[in-house]
Amino acid sequence: MFLPTTTEEMQHLGWDGLDVILITGDSYIDSPYIGAAVIGRVLVKAGYRVGIIAQPDIASSDAGQDIRRLGEPALFWGVTGGSVDSMVANWTATGKKRQKDDYTPGGVNNRRPDRAVIAYANLIRKHFKPTAPIVLGGIEASLRRVSHYDFWTNRIRRSILFDAKADYLVYGMAERSIVELAGAIRNRDDAALRSIRGICYASATIPDGCIELPSHESCAENKDVFTEMFHGFYRNNDPQTAACLAQKQDTRYLVQNPPAAMLSVPELDAVHELPYERELHPYYKRQGKVRALDTIRFSITTHRGCYGECNYCAIAVHQGRQVVSRSRRSIVEEARRLTEHPGFKGVIADVGGPTANMYAIECPRKQTKGSCPDKRCLFPKPCPSLSINHSPQIDLLAALRGVPGVRKIVVASGIRHDLILADRKNGARYLKDLVRHHVSGQMKIAPEHTEPHVLEKMGKPGADSLLKFKDLFDRQTRRQGLDQFLTYYLIAAHPGCTESDMAGLRSFAVKNLGLLPEQVQIFTPTPSTYATLMYWTGKDPFTGKACFVERTVRGKEKQKEIITGRDRNNEIRRKEKNRGYCKKI
Ligand code: SF4
Repeated sequence: MFLPTTTEEMQHLGWDGLDVILITGDSYIDSPYIGAAVIGRVLVKAGYRVGIIAQPDIASSDAGQDIRRLGEPALFWGVTGGSVDSMVANWTATGKKRQKDDYTPGGVNNRRPDRAVIAYANLIRKHFKPTAPIVLGGIEASLRRVSHYDFWTNRIRRSILFDAKADYLVYGMAERSIVELAGAIRNRDDAALRSIRGICYASATIPDGCIELPSHESCAENKDVFTEMFHGFYRNNDPQTAACLAQKQDTRYLVQNPPAAMLSVPELDAVHELPYERELHPYYKRQGKVRALDTIRFSITTHRGCYGECNYCAIAVHQGRQVVSRSRRSIVEEARRLTEHPGFKGVIADVGGPTANMYAIECPRKQTKGSCPDKRCLFPKPCPSLSINHSPQIDLLAALRGVPGVRKIVVASGIRHDLILADRKNGARYLKDLVRHHVSGQMKIAPEHTEPHVLEKMGKPGADSLLKFKDLFDRQTRRQGLDQFLTYYLIAAHPGCTESDMAGLRSFAVKNLGLLPEQVQIFTPTPSTYATLMYWTGKDPFTGKACFVERTVRGKEKQKEIITGRDRNNEIRRKEKNRGYCKKI
């Protein structure tokens, strides 16, 4: 049974009204991969009546009818831009409008407005005056919760809570906070509400015990002050050690309570064991096929969180630096349930998480005392406290291969090759199993660059580990008589990267990898990452030293073309194609 999207469906459930209405920028796929579906299911399990309006019409003459179609919620509106920040979903790194959207029926990018969170909050207020509290959540709200650099307007924007004129903002992985919030709103308990971890709200004063961050106005005026603010924000992101933060924005304070505690293993299992349909809701199915379903319908999430902390990635800020892994029992049971789905053809499209091979690898110190404030877990080298051991993943994959009805399991999530190399005991065995059973012709890895000073700006391991891993991979595939190859993901125009660095990367690739990679992305300065901070300030935030930043569209394109440019590289590309390396995905 789906969450209702119409009054007829509500009546079918015997509900005469809703406690919570979720508005989302994605179509409604009922899947553990879709945040609105997860939050809706978690709230229903906690006893609330929840409906969903996906990709509401915001502009046509019927817009009022669309947003009104479920009535008004008794407790609150939950608003999310969807699985991707709407500006990233709608615009490329070089300012072109994206034509496709994998989360929209028909695949055409015509349903998710720019700044979707703000647009939806405005839509609600326009048609319901006054109304229940508006609660923001999801990645767009989470990463824009304090003052942040906005690439699309090239300025520091204030908290999206203020821009959307919403009542609360739930950040990070919100299952725990949203249930507490629903309870506090239902009980009209304002004191309890303001103490919920993982939420932001506006306040006239700074609550006791909060650390005051530099004000929004001072961040907007001075790049060094913004850097100081960002360090304070980033350091207070660990549930074990974070303080409450307050930041003055205009005449009020944005208060960010400390992050919610990570879910325990049984709690995370329970979230994934909710009765998802793994389908597009019929209301939206009529509008066309949603491409994202192809990849997520028969995929399994094994864990959440990432301690990679690549500087261009916001996962550590959103999901946390601590990895929590599901139990093997729960994952295997999910695979078994997949085999009962009428559309299942025996293939599990992915078994993984933000980084596939962080499953069940975590530092004991972090679980009790929090992440080290002054050290990173994988950069410049994996920390010895991590006790890297791929054995639980080897056992998990073997157990999944034994599920009757499963023919093939793909590990499509990214792999940290430095973690495999650091596992002297089981790394090679894990790679052997991947190569033999879980790679479909090509294995994706993300070195992102090869020039040492660019890798240092990215927080990524050196090119020596890439070469060692390639050697190990080649030996494994040869030994097993397989025709498999590595696909490399690279970033052009990252802060610190010049055309000459891209030329260095090109020479490295031709000489050491025997090919020119095709997967080259131009760096997008998404909100709330250290790389975005470098992009805005032109300084390395860890040393204070100036750092080159390519800001022109032509300059960014040129960096990419040094690797992918058709004319310049045609000859090499043809040669490599003949050797079978540059296959298209
Ligand atoms: S001890 Fe090492 S692995 Fe543990 S949190 Fe600190 S840096 Fe990370």
